Amino acid sequence: MLDRNNFLKDQNTLHQFHPMTHPLISREHRPQIIVDSDGCYVTDIDGNRMVDGLGGLWNVNVGHNRAEVKAAIVKQMDRISYYSSFAGTATAPSIELSARVCQMGATEEVDKVMFSANGSDAVETALKLARQYWKLVGEPMRTKFISLKQGYHGVHFGGLSVNGTPYYRTVYEPLLPGCFQIDTPWTYRNPYSEDPAELTNAVITQLERTIYHEGAGTIAAFIAEPIQGAGGVIVPPADFWPRLRAVCDQHGILLIADEVVTGFGRSGSMFGSRGWGVKPDIMCLAKGITSGYVPLGATTLNKRVASAWYDGFTPEGVIMHGYTSTGHPLACAAALAVLDIVEGEDLPGNAARMGERLMAGLKPLAETCSVVGEVRGKGLMIGLDFVSDKKTRTPIDPGTGIVERIAGYAREKGAIVRPAGSVIILSPPLVIGEAEIDVIIDALTYGCARYDAETR
Ligand code: PLP
Repeated sequence: MLDRNNFLKDQNTLHQFHPMTHPLISREHRPQIIVDSDGCYVTDIDGNRMVDGLGGLWNVNVGHNRAEVKAAIVKQMDRISYYSSFAGTATAPSIELSARVCQMGATEEVDKVMFSANGSDAVETALKLARQYWKLVGEPMRTKFISLKQGYHGVHFGGLSVNGTPYYRTVYEPLLPGCFQIDTPWTYRNPYSEDPAELTNAVITQLERTIYHEGAGTIAAFIAEPIQGAGGVIVPPADFWPRLRAVCDQHGILLIADEVVTGFGRSGSMFGSRGWGVKPDIMCLAKGITSGYVPLGATTLNKRVASAWYDGFTPEGVIMHGYTSTGHPLACAAALAVLDIVEGEDLPGNAARMGERLMAGLKPLAETCSVVGEVRGKGLMIGLDFVSDKKTRTPIDPGTGIVERIAGYAREKGAIVRPAGSVIILSPPLVIGEAEIDVIIDALTYGCARYDAETR
């Protein structure tokens, strides 16, 4: 068995490129190969069973290895595993799922859904349909996008162009012209104010200036995550999204909520924007929609946007966009089973409750651990921000390996947590219970205490 484990690890080094990783690093630090799972736990090839503090990659919301989801996929495979949604054909699960998403998004007045295979596809679809919308309603000059610094919108060229972290973008430039990022309303790190209301004012003013400078009539949409995930779990002040909606309305700009992480319960409400009391025009969904069992993305349109396609037939109205996997029946069947669990087990409610417990257990680390500057989050999206100086809040240099080291100690104590730059990110399955939450708290508390003891 040991030989097979080493063989797999060697083969991986020889043949596979991994996302967001330098191939030389993958070669030096051979990956932990995950082979088994049950509920909130995963087991690696060496037999270590750990609480999955990442929920896969923010996505395994209903937990691993759920019989209902597997059964739904197999049942669909017994009928037909694939057929296209391109002109003239469809499969039953994609139709049922589009109706289900509209029903679950009734508060947001979701009217139409277009499927794809990933979050990046959902964003690309949103950006393209937003531009097409403006062509259809007779304002073809509206082509630009505004977004937030620290925002993450996937890896396609459109998503990269609205991405707010240069690190992801620079090496793939040139990107789309006409994309602008304004400051993110981040209370812990900003040049304006720690007061949430003042901070919102400052960022909204910046937005208004950008709109004025560029010309409202040239801007297609504003895109943002209701809570920034990959950027370091950044929760905006509660009045930011309502103010953002108001500014978009004032200038006719479409509001796109990238709900790839926050969709279907992770932040404690069914959608992140619902948690802020805001109805976006377009939502990007993926991850939680199938809990990662099969890849699926979805882009929703409200009536205002969708109706532009029904104002008579024009060549510009043809949707020249879509993927071979658009409406994939296995993915849609998986999603229908997942969404039954999300609603039936009130996962948004559990995310809110368990998120409070996780936050309460981890908050003390900002006082007790020499390198934890802040613990923040909403629902089951939580970040520990590591700093080299608590006064200046200077992020710890990822090159020091400190964040990786503490994450490694936590792993030894039975919890997988995600070191991402100077932040440790937590996004466990939404079905998590108190016992597993406490494993994560204990593991990180141990990791931080051990680091402090070793470096004192
Ligand atoms: N948008 C957001 C907010 C994300 O967090 C992600 C992925 O983490 C994406 C888009 C891209 O999704 P995918 O990796 O499925 O393409």
